[in-house]
Amino acid sequence: MKLCSLLCLWAVTGLAAEANWETVRMGRLEYVTLDSFVKFYGFQKAAEVPVGRPFDLTSPAGVLTLTVDSREMKWRGARYWLNHSIRQQDDVTLVSRLDLGKTFEPLLRPNVETPKRPVQGVVVDPGHGGGDEGTRAARGLSEKTANLDVAKRLVRLLDDAGVPWVLTRAKDRYVDHADRSARASDHPAYIFVSIHFNEDYDRGTTGWETYCVSPQYGPSTSSGGSFVGDEDEVWPGNDFDHHNFLLAQAIHRSAVLAKSNAPSDRGLKKARFKVLRLAHSPGVLVEGGFLSNPQEASLLKTESYRQQVADWIFKGIMAYRKSQETIAGPSRLSVEPAEKVPASTPELRPVMNLETVPAFRPKENGTNRPVPSPQLTNALAPTNSVDGEVRRAVPVQPGKKAE
Ligand SMILES: [Zn+2]
Repeated sequence: MKLCSLLCLWAVTGLAAEANWETVRMGRLEYVTLDSFVKFYGFQKAAEVPVGRPFDLTSPAGVLTLTVDSREMKWRGARYWLNHSIRQQDDVTLVSRLDLGKTFEPLLRPNVETPKRPVQGVVVDPGHGGGDEGTRAARGLSEKTANLDVAKRLVRLLDDAGVPWVLTRAKDRYVDHADRSARASDHPAYIFVSIHFNEDYDRGTTGWETYCVSPQYGPSTSSGGSFVGDEDEVWPGNDFDHHNFLLAQAIHRSAVLAKSNAPSDRGLKKARFKVLRLAHSPGVLVEGGFLSNPQEASLLKTESYRQQVADWIFKGIMAYRKSQETIAGPSRLSVEPAEKVPASTPELRPVMNLETVPAFRPKENGTNRPVPSPQLTNALAPTNSVDGEVRRAVPVQPGKKAE
């Protein structure tokens, strides 16, 4: 079927009914065209959209870098992973609707339609413990020890700032994943921050990763984009997709954009870690460096660097917390002071929120008959057809240990 016959115009319900979205279904996924994306979010149209190399979309708020057939993107200097690759068909560039709702809405309109969620405290979760050592550095530092050390440094910083906290473990003991999530669920007005360090078979791998739970129908970042069967499930953690993303982003940017000693940026990622998917509050899992890398392991053996890691997490938490203050909080997450935006900035128009406005209300089609309105759940639900992206997605580096 030709793309043009798949294209249809949808008027979006809500505050700016004049906004039209061009949508395209490919296999089990629905996409919106880059043209409508650019218009909606106030980006300048890219002069050229090459295949296989990154292209920039610019707006007064920042530069967004995308790549056709890749899930990798950059926004204002930090790296993120999309749920699904940017696609191109018949010279039309496409953005997945899942990413529209679950990546770009929180990224570009963090506080426009989703209510803020004031942070009353932090559940700090040092990963592993007891007989579960986690990963181990070549020269002896075990992950469980580093996790606990950084967690204790973090709660001291929270204490100084007057932010209440709970530790899921305060000493070297085993705590089940479900019990860790239960602590988060006991404190629904808190946020949940799980601290880990990483390993890879390739000892050269370094850097910082920040995870939030994958949204429904979104594959794990490390899956290479293929569906593995549990994407359809909705976990308690998915109630907070929007805030999970904002929290992860705040911590991630705090670390990888730090003015000094910033770790290399492996991106904001998504995965169904048990502690995240079961938590009844916004949650994040930080992988603060690779113990399998000799240089990073050496750094992490120093108190000063572990303090640095705790500081980055703390600053990210405080930036997120500030963004959720209900009285005149900042409209955009920023660890640095907010940038001055020129007066001519076209406002990022509040039009749609896929979490609360599921229906794309159809405009009349060429024959003047209404097109059936797809509900979000239907639009994202799998069909029996094979999705081309599953095969074409660019895999993320393998080797990340399953947690
Ligand atoms: Zn771990």
